[in-house]
Amino acid sequence: MTTREDFKRDFLEIVSSFKEYLLYLQGLNFEGLPREKLSGFNPAKQQLASAETTEAEDKAARLGALRKQMVECQHCQLGSSRKNLVFGTGNPNARLVFVGEAPGRDEDLQGKPFVGKAGQLLTRIINAIGLDREDVYIANILKCRPPENRNPLPEEIATCEPFLIKQLEVIKPKLIVALGTFAAQTLLKNTDAISRLRGRFHLYQGIKLMPTYHPAYLLRNPQKKREVWEDMQMVQKEYQ
Ligand code: SF4
Repeated sequence: MTTREDFKRDFLEIVSSFKEYLLYLQGLNFEGLPREKLSGFNPAKQQLASAETTEAEDKAARLGALRKQMVECQHCQLGSSRKNLVFGTGNPNARLVFVGEAPGRDEDLQGKPFVGKAGQLLTRIINAIGLDREDVYIANILKCRPPENRNPLPEEIATCEPFLIKQLEVIKPKLIVALGTFAAQTLLKNTDAISRLRGRFHLYQGIKLMPTYHPAYLLRNPQKKREVWEDMQMVQKEYQ
């Protein structure tokens, strides 16, 4: 029995063959054929773009619903001191997700991840591999700021991590970059130092994960930028 999908596929094949025929006629200098419009028309590409848009819209809606669920979260003590929940931002259909540790002061005030000095450095790192922030998704292990930017406590990580897991389940990235010790150790369930974990891909739920130094650490230790660049070059190669 011919299904709707079969019909759609056959139709696109016919349109595609007709387009090739018209291009062939153009090549023979037939007059009256709209050259510019024809060369820009690609039904298969248009169908793919439309499928991607639908998928992105679906993911955005699911992330929006999750954010709504969490906005009043008081599951751990950080809920009482935060100004804003920092859920995550970026492309809901991203192939690459950056995961940091926790919001700092600027992030807490704005409700967005990586917007302070470390965030500006992260933006430059993303740009250096040929992408914009809008191409990727950025989130943290903890969605609320620890007081005075202290390290996250194990119980806070354990309580908040399920939200990040849900975000990653929705986005389904091809690649993850874990920024800093807490992100890498939490996702990989590994207690090795970041200096030992970085420099090679690991697997998180079947997704390639590259641990590297946190941008805030890089601001204090600029000599480590070269190692981050090496890690990011591997990410860039894999992304392509
Ligand atoms: S850090 Fe996570 S678990 Fe704790 S209150 Fe914030 S959203 Fe809830």
